[in-house]
Amino acid sequence: LAIIGESGSGKSTIAKAILGILPPNAEVLPGSEIIFQGKNILELSEEELRKFRWHKASMVFQAAQNALNPLLTIEEQMLDAIYDHEVKISTDEARDKIRNLLKTLHLDPDRVMRSYPHQLSGGMRQRVVIAMAMVLDPELIILDEPTTALDVITQFYIFDILGELHDRFNLAMILITHDLSLASKIADDIAVMYGGFLVEHGPASEMLKDPKHPYTLGLLNSLPKIEGDNITIKPIPGFPPDLINKPSGCVFHPRCERKMEICSRERPELVKIQDDWKVACFLYGEKEE
Ligand code: SF4
Repeated sequence: LAIIGESGSGKSTIAKAILGILPPNAEVLPGSEIIFQGKNILELSEEELRKFRWHKASMVFQAAQNALNPLLTIEEQMLDAIYDHEVKISTDEARDKIRNLLKTLHLDPDRVMRSYPHQLSGGMRQRVVIAMAMVLDPELIILDEPTTALDVITQFYIFDILGELHDRFNLAMILITHDLSLASKIADDIAVMYGGFLVEHGPASEMLKDPKHPYTLGLLNSLPKIEGDNITIKPIPGFPPDLINKPSGCVFHPRCERKMEICSRERPELVKIQDDWKVACFLYGEKEE
């Protein structure tokens, strides 16, 4: 699943909510549910939540490659990640595990394990961070803008590797990104967020061919198109909403070319337009005028 949207649309907040690491002043509305393997994560105790993190679901944070400890070798940091979570395996077994994981991420374990972070390139550090997130065999991995700050070739290389990990380990992935073209390369499903709301969620290939929500269409149109010598870009007019003072009704209405009278009054709910496709827009479903 790729979650896409502009900065401030709520993508990272969703990821942090899933792992229960929102700041203490965050409010989760009563009646909310985050269902993982049939259990509501919001009802887990602190101890259960601690086990859930890393063992069941882990996260690669934005710019995480810069958060590696500069004073420890990669091997020391990865061993710490294993033993911090009370995994009872011998050091030799832990080292073998690290070695195999690094190989899976197309890194040379002999070189990387004894290196300090500054001795590795940005792309290598990012792969180390992904390996670290996998060290306790999670079933879900959340990647928050995992390739920001890397050059385009390295970005595509890392995305190829993520695809391999997904297939090989049957690993569910949530990719958070503002880059629609990258999301379209890897994701089966796309969820589009705008102004703190989910506005469209459906199968990637169909949605990219025929987006339903005007904001998703705007995002697609704002990608550069090359025709002959011309490059055309059609940006979405206006600015993202002020989240402290959100527009009334549909949060996208001040920028929407298809807005109707109801749009500034009422907020559209997500409606199903197909079994696996939902849209929050009055152009679809019962509330259409
Ligand atoms: Fe546009 Fe109205 Fe749909 Fe919002 S609900 S996206 S304003 S048409």
